[in-house]
Amino acid sequence: MSEEAIPPAAPPRHQCCTCGGTGIDSYGDTCPHCEGYGYC
Ligand SMILES: [Zn+2]
Ligand SMILES: [Zn+2]
Repeated sequence: MSEEAIPPAAPPRHQCCTCGGTGIDSYGDTCPHCEGYGYC
């Protein structure tokens, strides 16, 4: 029997390792790693 829990449509995301989830890099520009999303 299937016991695998099917997650909702939203995929797992993690705070961006470059901007820390702010979406902005240390220069105040859009983070090039997550493109401003804050997650990667
Ligand atoms: Zn990142
Ligand atoms: Zn980022």
